[in-house]
Amino acid sequence: MAAIALKGTIVSAPVLGQLEVLEDGYLVTEDGVVAGTFPVLPERYAGIPVEDWSGRLILQSFADLHLHAPQYSMLGMGMDLPLLDWLDTYAFPTEARFADTDYARAVYRQLARELVENGTTRVCMFSSLHTDATLILMDELERAGVTGYVGKVNMDRNGAPGLQEDTEGSMRETLRWLDACQDFPHIRPILTPRFTPSCTDALMAFLGRLAAERDLPIQSHLSENQAEVDWVRQLHPDCSQYWETYAKFGLWGRRTVMAHCVWSDARERQAMAEAGVTAVHCADSNQNLCSGVAPVRALLQEGVRVALGSDIAGGDHLHMFDVVAASIRASKARRILDGWTPAFLTVAEAWYLGTSAGAAFFGAAPGFAPGSRLHALVLDDRTLPCPHPLTARERLERAIYRRQPGAIRAVWSDGRNVYRAG
Ligand SMILES: [Zn+2]
Repeated sequence: MAAIALKGTIVSAPVLGQLEVLEDGYLVTEDGVVAGTFPVLPERYAGIPVEDWSGRLILQSFADLHLHAPQYSMLGMGMDLPLLDWLDTYAFPTEARFADTDYARAVYRQLARELVENGTTRVCMFSSLHTDATLILMDELERAGVTGYVGKVNMDRNGAPGLQEDTEGSMRETLRWLDACQDFPHIRPILTPRFTPSCTDALMAFLGRLAAERDLPIQSHLSENQAEVDWVRQLHPDCSQYWETYAKFGLWGRRTVMAHCVWSDARERQAMAEAGVTAVHCADSNQNLCSGVAPVRALLQEGVRVALGSDIAGGDHLHMFDVVAASIRASKARRILDGWTPAFLTVAEAWYLGTSAGAAFFGAAPGFAPGSRLHALVLDDRTLPCPHPLTARERLERAIYRRQPGAIRAVWSDGRNVYRAG
């Protein structure tokens, strides 16, 4: 058995709102599986290799539960329109480029590298509707050491020139993609109806049957923007709420992840809590596209599972330190707008959402739980000024608000060391 120990200040989020801190401790893994965290190296581990990261923070790595890989090409651009116009003007023309597999390979290689170097080791990701480019994306993520789910997008209506399937073609390509992606050990498929306006009833019904037959997870968008919610109501007059347009086709359950949920009211939130659907909060994107501010506190209090997403390229930050900070700011905006009622997210809560809560969608235990595969990063914050001694909690908060390029020195994903700064 190959055991190693990482020595440093270990901070994890085993419970929403609580950080566990071990100053100058040891995180021991055996064959990539966490054996435990210890203030002193136990006798039984005497003589194992120790990586000495003294003075640095050993943190859980991130789970980004909503992002659009092809939109990496337009990250940081085109933020002057609301959602539906933004899709037509920027996102769809960008995604249409991924018919070109050479282009896809170049973009996705860079994206995969940037994810790992910035400590994101779990993703729930949209590709485009192109099967071949989706397989390239899965291959590049696998090679880089990222784990999680990738979905070939389904869209057989309301697309754009060069970016729409016919219903039969979408079904056929989905099956081809599922057959072709079975050998990736760490990147698994997730069914991905883009959102209700993009998919006919026939396609949604097909995907619902497929999810049940093959026990596949599902990702999509829910109640992001008011114009979108109105449009869905027109498209499905038989459904009183947006979530029902997924539920009626069997696309709603414990393995479903829904991005945004900005305009989900108490009834829709209750439906999420009862079904065990995970809501992905994408604070940057919701502000950039003038969608609104998601009711994160209400979601949490009402028992909905909540995780965080960068939602690039509606979101302008791929780095999850920034996404965690954005979620805290958004919760403060919500508090201001709601008459100072809901409590804003604390640093410990937002950190939990960006790490343990996202990992839970993949079945992982929170924090550095013994028995779980190691997903971790080492953060060197010693380049920041430190005129007086800081606690580990203060250092974590500062790392969130003052992300330093190059501060991440090493990353582990599924027990494998996948990155080391040069
Ligand atoms: Zn999205």
